[in-house]
Amino acid sequence: MRDDPILIVGGGIGGVGAGLALARAGHRVQVFERSSAFGEIGAGIQLGPNVMRMFERLGVKEAVLDIGFRPTALVMRDAIQGFEIARVPLGPGFEKRFGQPYAVIHRADLHAVLLEALKAEPNAELFTDHDAEGFAQDAAGVTLRFKGGKEARGRALIGADGLWSRIRQQVIGDGKPIVSGHIAYRAVLPMEEVPEAISRHEMTVWVGPRIHLVHYRLRRGTLMNLVAVFHSDRYSEGWNESGDVAELERHFAGTRPEVRALLAKINAWKYWVLCWREPRRGWSQGRVTLLGDAAHPTLQYLAQGANQAIEDAVCLADMLAAYAADLPAAFRAYEDARVLRTGRVQIMSKVYGEVFHAAHVTAELRNAMLANRTAEQAWDGMAWLYEGPVWPYYGASG
Ligand SMILES: Cc1cc2nc3c(=O)[nH]c(=O)nc-3n(C[C@H](O)[C@H](O)[C@H](O)COP(=O)(O)OP(=O)(O)OC[C@H]3O[C@@H](n4cnc5c(N)ncnc54)[C@H](O)[C@@H]3O)c2cc1C
Repeated sequence: MRDDPILIVGGGIGGVGAGLALARAGHRVQVFERSSAFGEIGAGIQLGPNVMRMFERLGVKEAVLDIGFRPTALVMRDAIQGFEIARVPLGPGFEKRFGQPYAVIHRADLHAVLLEALKAEPNAELFTDHDAEGFAQDAAGVTLRFKGGKEARGRALIGADGLWSRIRQQVIGDGKPIVSGHIAYRAVLPMEEVPEAISRHEMTVWVGPRIHLVHYRLRRGTLMNLVAVFHSDRYSEGWNESGDVAELERHFAGTRPEVRALLAKINAWKYWVLCWREPRRGWSQGRVTLLGDAAHPTLQYLAQGANQAIEDAVCLADMLAAYAADLPAAFRAYEDARVLRTGRVQIMSKVYGEVFHAAHVTAELRNAMLANRTAEQAWDGMAWLYEGPVWPYYGASG
């Protein structure tokens, strides 16, 4: 029955984005979040031209740009010696080439824009405190079971429940994600506390052996977002553990004074252990499919996990429009349309991690390969990602 809802497990950027894309396309949706509120914890997200195209389709691009920040360039610098290794200009030439801007945003701000748009959709219902445990499907629909015994019934189910997805375990059953051995410490700093020597207008990544530090401005430029990454064999599930300042100082001990001065401004870090999976097929099983990190969790080095989740959402809506009479066929077509692109992001993100953290000759080779590129050459390197997404029936959901 077309009137039965599509059930979505997970109210993160992927789940809320999927709810919005489907509701806008005329589907009834119910989004179930296990936490007691819909929301996102701190830290920034970079948004490429590829996801800007999706925001345009979802009608939220202006709201995103209004609360975000537009850096003038992506710059890579040597964290030990300070010299510039590479630069990707993001000004008018970039926008002309890709037809869309580049922006950075606080995760909570992006989530809020998507959530407000979803709440305004009459077809959408949102539920908190619903911890999904598993599902059963039959020829007509899917029954979703929650902790405490509650159930929901719909004509399809989308697992957008993130890196540790339970829905994935029932669909694919491939156990825990891969622990990368990299840890990310993150914090935000009011702009007035940022040391003078730190660039205000660029997204900067300082790279060094087994470490890097990224910083860029957020929330209309009022905050500086910091993410410091280093290698460690520590492991704990979750996103929001408290970081140890001394441990961070140890890993960044040999870096430039301006890097250390910036890190020293923060006394309360949060950290998370970075995990990912090898790409694989099998996300769609009958009336159930996966989306976002549940389907293709990636390391953050290409800054594309959330971008890809939103692309998934719009693609899913297009496939449901194209295969209106056959929901399992729509889900298979969605997976086919997405698996190579998201797989490339997963693989290339891992490669970029090795490029960022290179030492010795590998670092020299990186520097030599990236030196003296023109803006066009730098943009060409990102064209496979930023010129997309492309799939059959693009635009079918309106
Ligand atoms: C350091 C770092 C930097 C990053 N930078 C970028 C960037 O610059 N650009 C970018 O695009 N991406 C970036 N990412 C990736 C991005 O954060 C993720 O890819 C994105 O958040 C995935 O969204 P999601 O909705 O699929 O999953 P999640 O954000 O994990 O959301 C899953 C939701 O499901 C809920 N849930 C889980 N289990 C259940 C259950 N059983 N029942 C009900 N609800 C449940 C959770 O509470 C959560 O709300 C970065 C990631 C990291 C770690």
